[in-house]
Amino acid sequence: MCQTKKEGGRRCARHQRTRKAYDRATYEATQVKTVVAEHADDVKVSPVTPEFIDVPSWEQIEDAVADARRLTGDPEPRVQIDSKNRIHVLPHGWAVEEASTRVGVMLSIVIDDEVAKRTAELEADIVVDGKHYTAKELDEAKEEALIEFDDMCIIQRETLEKTWHIDGQLARMNDIDTPAEAKLNRKREKLLATYNSREPEQDRLNKVHGDLRKAKTDLDKKLKFIRRDATIDVLAHLRRMGVPEDGVVYDFISSPILTDELGESMKCFPTDWIRSSNNHPTKVALDTSMGRAYYVHEGIFDPLKAAEATNQEPESEEVKSWGEKRVMSMLVAFPSIGGFSPSFIHEFTHRMEYVHVPEGARLAELEDMFLRRRTNAGPHAKGPRQGKRRYKLGRKDEMTRPDDFADPYFGKEYEGLRAREILSTGIEAVFGNKFGNLMGMDGYKADPDHRAFVLGVLATI
Ligand SMILES: [Zn+2]
Repeated sequence: MCQTKKEGGRRCARHQRTRKAYDRATYEATQVKTVVAEHADDVKVSPVTPEFIDVPSWEQIEDAVADARRLTGDPEPRVQIDSKNRIHVLPHGWAVEEASTRVGVMLSIVIDDEVAKRTAELEADIVVDGKHYTAKELDEAKEEALIEFDDMCIIQRETLEKTWHIDGQLARMNDIDTPAEAKLNRKREKLLATYNSREPEQDRLNKVHGDLRKAKTDLDKKLKFIRRDATIDVLAHLRRMGVPEDGVVYDFISSPILTDELGESMKCFPTDWIRSSNNHPTKVALDTSMGRAYYVHEGIFDPLKAAEATNQEPESEEVKSWGEKRVMSMLVAFPSIGGFSPSFIHEFTHRMEYVHVPEGARLAELEDMFLRRRTNAGPHAKGPRQGKRRYKLGRKDEMTRPDDFADPYFGKEYEGLRAREILSTGIEAVFGNKFGNLMGMDGYKADPDHRAFVLGVLATI
């Protein structure tokens, strides 16, 4: 694992060569931007995404984070003058979105590098019955061992069936102690002897397949969380991640099924974000459901219904003390698997859109900047918007601008609400192995821009 400069650790890139490559890439990116501003009024502006040739250093990343954070606290709108001397006043969030996405581009490279290192470390440890395997070899060996064991089982079964056939013939014989009977018995004994002689080999093949299968299951379990843990560790170089010292604050009616399992899921959030939730005057009530997951910010809830939903005793003094109706924020997620719930991190991100507002920077505003950049035409996304479409057939109330997102759901918009689906789905993707990690896995489209936006926001806001 990389260590920060402050910890005296090595740099991911420390060579002069890397710095030169970085400087060259930054220069080229600046040139590209200039061309867009001068000539192409109808071209969609792309974010500043220098193509790093090597892994950026922590010094470079820390500088980029400082730039983004400076912009977050800067209330001045950014002004740009185009080739026809027209002045464009850009929304405040636009510059922040651009700067934080740039951080995300750098972090994506560092995370991929870290994942590759950790995967190699894991592979170095795959030894089954004294033989070393790579992940791919292990997969192939497991399949081959299964075929070999299956073949042996078929042969053994055929041998047994032959003895059963002889048993049938013997049972139908009227005369005993005949030469024919003796012949059949000899044949039967021979078949059984062959069957028994193959048994140790059958057991051996069974054990080999069992050992390989177990090694593969163990490896898959570790691989599943390797990207999540590497992403958390890389972000932890820049800011504290996970539950603060004083824990997580939630409404007392919350269901212990969810609250007891928060630790692993909460590791995916910056500590500052969780503090914003803790300090918000309307606490969040947490509950699990196998139906639909959702977050409602400051809705009016009937206490009896809420009690029913979260398995509280409706006649208890606490529930009675709520009075008629009360304002609550309600988060309902699917239960955790192995202490981790992708659905919880999705819904908790929606809470963040309402409660985490550092220096006035609203997450949903940044998401809007991102959505506009992706779904509007023209420089600074001032051109006409891509049309809205129904998200699902037959659902007039759910509309999306599908762009070329990994899933059309990401472009969903809710009238009059602060929530968007860019961060919630993105956080689920980068930590929860969803939507192909936005990296084109599991048959999804790759969307490095979306991934960079999510990582950048997690690092800087
Ligand atoms: Zn959502």
